[in-house]
Amino acid sequence: MTATRPPALSATSLAVAATRDDCLALDARDPLASLRERFDLPDGVIYLDGNSLGARPRAALARAQEVVAREWGRDLIKSWNTAGWFEMPKRLGDRLAPLIGARPGEVAVTDTTSLNLFKALAAALAMQAERSPGRKTIVTERGNFPTDIYMADGLARWLDRGYRVRLVEDLDKLEAAVDADCAVLMLTHVNYRTGRQHDMAALTRHAHANGALAVWDLAHSAGAVPLDLHAAGADFAVGCTYKYLNGGPGAPAFIWVPQHHQAAFRHPLTGWWSHAAPFAMSHGFEAADGIGRALCGTQPVVSLALVECGLEVFEATGMEAIRAKSLQLTDLFIALVEARCAAHPLGLVTPREHERRGSHVSFTHPHGYAVMQALIERGVIGDYREPAIMRFGFTPLYTRFVDVWDAVEVLRDILDNETYDKNATRSAVT
Ligand SMILES: *Cc1c(COP(=O)(O)O)cnc(C)c1O
Repeated sequence: MTATRPPALSATSLAVAATRDDCLALDARDPLASLRERFDLPDGVIYLDGNSLGARPRAALARAQEVVAREWGRDLIKSWNTAGWFEMPKRLGDRLAPLIGARPGEVAVTDTTSLNLFKALAAALAMQAERSPGRKTIVTERGNFPTDIYMADGLARWLDRGYRVRLVEDLDKLEAAVDADCAVLMLTHVNYRTGRQHDMAALTRHAHANGALAVWDLAHSAGAVPLDLHAAGADFAVGCTYKYLNGGPGAPAFIWVPQHHQAAFRHPLTGWWSHAAPFAMSHGFEAADGIGRALCGTQPVVSLALVECGLEVFEATGMEAIRAKSLQLTDLFIALVEARCAAHPLGLVTPREHERRGSHVSFTHPHGYAVMQALIERGVIGDYREPAIMRFGFTPLYTRFVDVWDAVEVLRDILDNETYDKNATRSAVT
């Protein structure tokens, strides 16, 4: 699809879309509009949570049927070879690679983001232990997604060689924390809570200039913002497929190991799938060449197969067109909320500068949880993150401009009429 760039909407989006009809007109001109047809979205729902669980590609239902009924049901164990089950982590990795600026043979779709991060960090620490053994800290931001910090901390304690995680509260002090002790700078490119985007190339350059390796988590970036891991010079990266990549609930994550680091990539989860010859059943472990060494054990085939349906959709467009629409949607949402809900105590958490923003927008409200529950009851699905933050994700593949308008109108109505329950009880997943 050749995407003509949509007309630019600046922070003064209201001038362009001051009415619902203006939003309909933007949809009519949207080069990505037809891709919405590729998703099954329930009627009466405005889904603004694709940053947490992407919507279902229509193709996923038939694919699930095929994997379960034919490949598993009829062909049974033969499918490891005949249906390509065994090669799937690498085949899907190659299909995902263009979205993140990776090359063929550098990405595997496997395991969870948490586990892949563990492997990448373990490998990075092992590389540093040979080059500069005095470096003992993994530097990250305190506001990083907790699992990233938990995994880094768990690894550091387990190794028991003086490694520790250094949490940086103030982002202005991040660069200074990459000092002579720093082995690895581990960052999430777009923050899950604030939607703030780091400058990957600049921070990676800074890490390298100061002797550290740079490991990036792309959970809220892959499929949301254009990425070029090679141009940025990143060392390792991991990310989710169930968020913007629409792979399905709990779908396997991905790990990127660039070719120039593959020979040195060693991690402790040396299961048989990371062996050079798994079916040789040999006594000693010998790591596979290439990205195969990033695997561990048997893959969840049914879930893995559905990841492909999400990736296919991206091949009908490009990340530049997706980014252009994403910025239009988030600009419009910010402008409309600030104009139409101005009487209410909403605070924008997400940066206004385009280059510092991902594809979701967060606002605080003193009753953020209750307001979000009221929105969900009215069919506007976002989510809530502590403290007091309402998150709204914008997925250009299926979110329309008119959805932005309608979502803001529901929000305004709830706030104007105070139709939210201040004592709403929390579900396990918020
Ligand atoms: C969503 C997310 C994860 C999820 O990790 P899982 O192991 O798949 O549960 C990890 N890190 C970040 C930054 C995330 O946003």
